Amino acid sequence: MKTIELQTRHKEEFIDIAAEIQEAVRASKIECGICLVYVPHTTAGLTINEHADPDVTTDILMALKRLVPDSFSWNHSEGNAPAHVKSSLIGSSVQIIVEGGRLALGTWQGIFFCEFDGPRRRRVYIKIVSSEH
Ligand code: ZN
Repeated sequence: MKTIELQTRHKEEFIDIAAEIQEAVRASKIECGICLVYVPHTTAGLTINEHADPDVTTDILMALKRLVPDSFSWNHSEGNAPAHVKSSLIGSSVQIIVEGGRLALGTWQGIFFCEFDGPRRRRVYIKIVSSEH
């Protein structure tokens, strides 16, 4: 397993970590397989979406804010209930096919670490599993 450490800068933000994950695939020397990316956090997530236009991730954050309002009669007393709910909606892992030693991402796809309760020090785990073809 490989670990990426990152320091988020804002309460909520999406950070494209595709280049770091691609570097982990390259270093593994695995040609074909599956790359599993996972966050061991309850107020963050991972998603794959468009990296070309930053408005796309801004819009996803806006939509999540609309779905999961800050002011609501939340039970979780820590004050970060919306971040926990957004984390579960987005999910804590993504899987990408590895072909020819590279992530089989589409042209417009980035892999985003999703911060919902920053700024914090965060970790991302990467496991690359080799397969025949
Ligand atoms: Zn909490």
